[in-house]
Amino acid sequence: MKNAIYPGSFDPVTYGHIDIIKRAAEIFDSLTVSVLINNAKTPLFSVEERVNILKDITKDMGNVHVRSYDGLLVECCRANDAHVIIRGLRAVTDFEYELQLAQTNCKLAEDIDTVFLATRLEYAYLSSSTVKEVASFGGDISKFVPPFIADLVYNKYGR
Ligand code: ADP
Repeated sequence: MKNAIYPGSFDPVTYGHIDIIKRAAEIFDSLTVSVLINNAKTPLFSVEERVNILKDITKDMGNVHVRSYDGLLVECCRANDAHVIIRGLRAVTDFEYELQLAQTNCKLAEDIDTVFLATRLEYAYLSSSTVKEVASFGGDISKFVPPFIADLVYNKYGR
């Protein structure tokens, strides 16, 4: 069994994330989407909310599981018996940070590899922070996230 972990903040999950989830689930036997608890960021959605949203999105994907993890990513991999970390790459701006992260994780655990999936062109500009910024001003986020997530995001901003 080839198990992979797709870690992230997913605050909120966007069509860009969903595309990576679908494609990674095709490549690996089992994919665990892991909401990592990052104390350096103040999230819009609680960890429980993000896990529930992701569970809803992936309910028809039989080999996709959703969990949260509070700790090192490589420990999260060990806990899920995964040797592959999936990350999405958008533009060169992602590259430096992602490479550093991948190399750090490789130093921490040599048996765990990072696999990058290139974003589809139509999602290359898309990030969770853009979604939040647009929604906070009441802008249209329907091209960025599924309708039920858009409602939840607007709710958070009292719109
Ligand atoms: P993190 O805080 O760990 O960067 P994110 O939720 O922002 O968490 O992103 C999780 C992963 O998804 C990262 O690898 C990121 O590059 C990738 N990602 C985010 N948005 C997109 C997108 N539009 N297309 C492809 N990958 C994306």
